[in-house]
Amino acid sequence: MGEMIFLQPVFKEVLWGGDKLQTMFGYSIPSNHTGEGWMISAHPKGDCQITEGSYKGETLSWLWKNHRELFGGLDGEVFPLLVKIIDAKDHLSIQVHPDDAYAAVHENGALGKTECWYVLDCEPDSTIVVGHNAKTKEELKAMIAEKRWMDLIQIRPLHKGDFFQINPGTVHAIRGGSVILEIQQSSDITYRLYDYDRLQDGKPRELHLDKSIDVIRCPHEDAATESQAETGEGFTSTRLVSCPFYTVTKVHVSGTAVFSQNQPFQMISVFEGEGFFDKKPVKKGMNFLIPSGYGSYTVTGNLEFMVSSVN
Ligand code: ZN
Repeated sequence: MGEMIFLQPVFKEVLWGGDKLQTMFGYSIPSNHTGEGWMISAHPKGDCQITEGSYKGETLSWLWKNHRELFGGLDGEVFPLLVKIIDAKDHLSIQVHPDDAYAAVHENGALGKTECWYVLDCEPDSTIVVGHNAKTKEELKAMIAEKRWMDLIQIRPLHKGDFFQINPGTVHAIRGGSVILEIQQSSDITYRLYDYDRLQDGKPRELHLDKSIDVIRCPHEDAATESQAETGEGFTSTRLVSCPFYTVTKVHVSGTAVFSQNQPFQMISVFEGEGFFDKKPVKKGMNFLIPSGYGSYTVTGNLEFMVSSVN
């Protein structure tokens, strides 16, 4: 059995942030420049506190360290994943992340970063950056040296419900007017390639051109995603991606459905509607963990949620 683990999000104020974490999800946020809610995180830059139950007041990193049985006895120094909700009122910088091997050597043993995005909402005519147009490293270097940013980046139309897998080495950027659920490796290593020449406190933010050039894959290739829906009693589920770091599945429950927790742990992100997980009321915007050995659980209501787990 065991109990579901509910966490207090950690909010991050940034230049490009907005107020949607409050207006869409009802969270009390530090300001109307709140760009990120770290909803399930044990990262040292935002370690979520447990809000109820036997471990109330402890952090997720503490739980990982002291109760590994709740995570199926997985190995590893750090809790491997991080779930964020991102409110991009303005554009994020154009960036790229290293893989584990590069980060281990160049970033003091930190994890690399593979991430994926589910578009919770966006304004009409929104766009997103995924990929670039340089065929070779030489062409990439030339385009960066000549600051031909708009020729370099691939800007794509964006719609609510879109899903993207961003592998390390992929040039990417969330753009203004979108709200995104991000599931990622627990890493904060970002190489900034271009920041629209914006100033923060009168200065441009630091760029990391050499490291970006090191890690960007040429030519760009879209990562594989999936979209095959399965239906069962009271639910439809669609696996969106399965990569070496995580599997993410979208679930729509209408009525009553029973699921079994047969993974080391499951991270649940409710993004539409409301209902109950066993007896616990949940609604849009809530994120929580179902530990190892919990067994089966019953979801009732009309709601959509993401189930993320390690592989
Ligand atoms: Zn990123």
